[in-house]
Formats: sequence, C-alpha cells, structure tokens
Amino acid sequence: MPDVAPSYKRILLKLSGEALMGDQGHGIDPKIVSRLADEIRLVLQLGVQICLVIGGGNIFRGLQGAAAGMDRAQADYMGMLATVINSLAMQSALERIGVPTRVQSAISMQMLCEPYIRRRALRHMEKGRIVIFAAGTGNPFFTTDTAAALRASEMECDALLKATKVDGVYSADPKHDPSAERHERLSYMDVLSRDLQVMDAAAISLARENSIPILVFSIHNIGGLADVVRGQGRFTIITEEAKT
Ligand code: UDP
Repeated sequence: MPDVAPSYKRILLKLSGEALMGDQGHGIDPKIVSRLADEIRLVLQLGVQICLVIGGGNIFRGLQGAAAGMDRAQADYMGMLATVINSLAMQSALERIGVPTRVQSAISMQMLCEPYIRRRALRHMEKGRIVIFAAGTGNPFFTTDTAAALRASEMECDALLKATKVDGVYSADPKHDPSAERHERLSYMDVLSRDLQVMDAAAISLARENSIPILVFSIHNIGGLADVVRGQGRFTIITEEAKT
C-alpha cells in the first residue's frame, strides 16, 4: 500500500473496557491488549501524537451496581477504579513493546500513576509518549465517552477515534438486523436527534462545541487504526456538516 500521510497530528483513542476482554466475557485478555498496543504503536510510528481513554465495562459499570441496590455514586467510583486497572494493563503492554507511556488519573493515586495535569500531558505527547487518561472525568454520573470528549477537547486533539465492534455507525445493530444501513458521514445533530447509539449525548455535544470530528471504526480489523488515521479503511465520520 502506498504511504499516505496521516490526516491528524494528535488523536484521542477511546477504547471501551469490553475491547480488552476478547472472548472471555469479563476481565482482561492480555493477548488482546498486546494486539491493541501493536495497533497503537503503528500509529505512533506515523508521527501522530496519541492519548487514550479506556472504559471499565469489562470489570464494573456503575449502573449495574446501582441496579443491584448499591449507592450510584459509590458504584460509579468503583467503575472509575476499573478504568485504572485497564489503563495500567495497557501501559504495561505498550511499554513491553518499547512505547513510553504515562498514565494520568483523574482520581489521585500517586503510588500507581501521575495525577491528571493538562500541561504535563501535552508535554508527554510532544515527547512522543502515549498518555492514558484513567478514572474517567473523576466524577460519578459520567461515562468514559464523556471523559474522552473532555480530554480530547483539553488536549486540542484533531480527532476523537471511537473503537467499536463494527466498522461504523449503522441505522440498527447490524449483528441483529441484516437490513441495517451503514452511515459514511453524519452530523453531530443527526446523532443526537436520531438517538444513534454512538456515544452519549454529553460526549457528542462536547465534541461538537469544540469542533472535534468523531471517527467510529472497528477495532477487529488488523491495522485498522492506522488506516483510519490515514483516512483509509472503513469508518463513519461525525462532523458539523453531514455530506450526503
Ligand atoms: N465512570 C464514572 N465517571 C466517569 C467515567 C466513568 O462514574 O467520568 C464510571 C461509571 O460507573 C461507568 C464506569 O466508570 O459505568 C466504567 O466506564 P464506562 O461504562 O464508560 O466504560 P466502557 O463502557 O467504555 O467500558
């Protein structure tokens, strides 16, 4: 494939916790985390600055805890701790393949990682390090999607890449509905008004306010992340204007 320059200088990659669990149904599959680390290294080698937000749904979700009778805020803090576990697993996988990585947590945990300091995170990326933002926004009642849009805005990222199980945004779940249509481009308003399940409304609104395009792509295609960063491969792009 001819060398195509990356379309973005700095990206934020949002991985759900489920992306780390593979076929296990729960927890972390180290083989999957290694493969994801390889994908991320490929993009770094293209000269792109990268930061990451990783979810915690493979370990604990606040809403599930609340449904089982727990205090919602308490359950959400547990969910945020789950994201720290995932972030440390990814840091370990990245450093094993020679990629310098820093974890910055929205909840102070100085024995494990740095606290979130915006200017320090920017400096890390300028030096070629990957920064993983752990513990979401640090606040209950939020999601890691919102954390991703928030950090992408703070880091002045050129794009927010949301890795999913499918290669874009569909009108319905393509795994269950064979007639589901895939969207090539959407506007932020399309996603909000049609309630397309891409990211929660707070995340979409934040990306919109800061004019950060959201690219939705499949994490299962090998080399897929590097393709998307070069404007190749299959993805749905969400911007202010949806070209038809
Ligand atoms: N969470 C939170 N505040 C945040 C981010 C996350 O309270 O800013 C909690 C929330 O309970 C959530 C859990 O952490 O259910 C795991 O995050 P999320 O569900 O977004 O992970 P994903 O679905 O991406 O794996």
